Amino acid sequence: MTERLGGEFRGLDERLAVIQARIAAVERPFEHDVEVIPVTKGFAGNAIEAAVDAGCRTVGENYAQDLLSKADLIQRLGVAVQFIGHLQSNKVRQLVDIVSLWCTIDRRSILDEVAKRAPGARVLIQVNATGESQKGGCHPAEVAALVDQAGAAGLVIEGLMTIGPTGQPPAAARRPFEIVRALVDEHELDICSMGMSGDIEMAVECGSTQVRVGSALFGPRPVSAI
Ligand SMILES: *Cc1c(COP(=O)(O)O)cnc(C)c1O
Repeated sequence: MTERLGGEFRGLDERLAVIQARIAAVERPFEHDVEVIPVTKGFAGNAIEAAVDAGCRTVGENYAQDLLSKADLIQRLGVAVQFIGHLQSNKVRQLVDIVSLWCTIDRRSILDEVAKRAPGARVLIQVNATGESQKGGCHPAEVAALVDQAGAAGLVIEGLMTIGPTGQPPAAARRPFEIVRALVDEHELDICSMGMSGDIEMAVECGSTQVRVGSALFGPRPVSAI
């Protein structure tokens, strides 16, 4: 296609097609589409350019500084950004002009900060359904209260986001993914963001509406950005 796809991320469009084929091959009792969100964290701006050239309109980013350094490019490309990293209150203000979906709302303080700095913003509530202490996300039992609080604060709650268990086979993600899908249904939300390079099929089978894919598209991340 363009010269950019001949560079470091040569073949990205084929790798994207492979992932879409993997998704299409999953047997599932759902009719919704599953979107692939390329995760460009830790890579230079050319990963975002390659994703756009491959037809993607949205990317996922984790690190505030890293994202801010790509702000001009993002604006020029007109690509939407989902913030999927751990969110610190003091970073929200700097990110409001770049982020179009805040995916890691997991506590009252961050919810209030986003509502204050970005009134009416679109958010996902992050759920920790594995119980791993190193993971962000609220307890499944806290989702209802956060949904109420986000609504009262004027935020638009699009859905829920979760991360499968770390260092486990994909089968171990089934139960956590089922828990999150059930909560999406209970609250009649649209987006169920779950599944990464290692557990795409399991997430789709359990009802994911968007998978966040980094290494399976772009290769290993620079060590500074795992
Ligand atoms: C890094 C990251 C991803 C992508 O991970 P891969 O295993 O490289 O596909 C997805 N979601 C979140 C929240 C991440 O931090």
